[in-house]
Amino acid sequence: MRSEMEQDILKVLVTEEQLRERIAEMGEILYDRFHDKKPLFLSVLKGSFVFMADLVRACQVKSDVEFIAVSSYQNATTSSGRVQITHDLQQDITGRHLIIVEDILDSGNTLAFLKEYFLTKGAASITIVTLLDKPARRAKAITADLAGFVVPDEFVVGYGLDYAQQYRNVPYIGVLKPEVYTQQ
Ligand code: 5GP
Ligand code: MG
Repeated sequence: MRSEMEQDILKVLVTEEQLRERIAEMGEILYDRFHDKKPLFLSVLKGSFVFMADLVRACQVKSDVEFIAVSSYQNATTSSGRVQITHDLQQDITGRHLIIVEDILDSGNTLAFLKEYFLTKGAASITIVTLLDKPARRAKAITADLAGFVVPDEFVVGYGLDYAQQYRNVPYIGVLKPEVYTQQ
């Protein structure tokens, strides 16, 4: 397939085939844990939308889907990070078994905030599933219950993950060439 983005990619970290195989495994693992529980797959937008679409089809349990959008920004004087909900839940999650679907677990600020938020909303259980885990930069005591791939401390794009809202449609996980950051 022709691609306008390929020339901007320095290297591929996770190939399409590796994604396909691992997500199939993750779907089976979640099937074993959640069959008969009617879980709610809860995608954290925007980054997880591609992973979400593949994961729910890899896990054939009776379930429904929900979306929440957050934006995180660093406070200039602290490194704790603040998270804001920009699109809230559209349904009552009381008593639901949540499968939170994230693109990447980095500092942990987003998931620490969301976990607390979903508990106050009455979730019965919370399972954190992330495609990528970047443990090097963790600031909060948050671990994924299920992670697809551990990645090094590099800024990655593709398969839903963006740089300046672009590259989400790159079908693999890659690292951009340094000049891409200085061009824009
Ligand atoms: P946190 O630092 O709160 O764990 O991660 C917050 C969000 O930062 C992630 O959901 C993701 O949207 C973004 N993020 C963290 N690391 C990367 C990265 O390497 N690439 C991209 N594109 N986004 C990242
Ligand atoms: Mg995200």
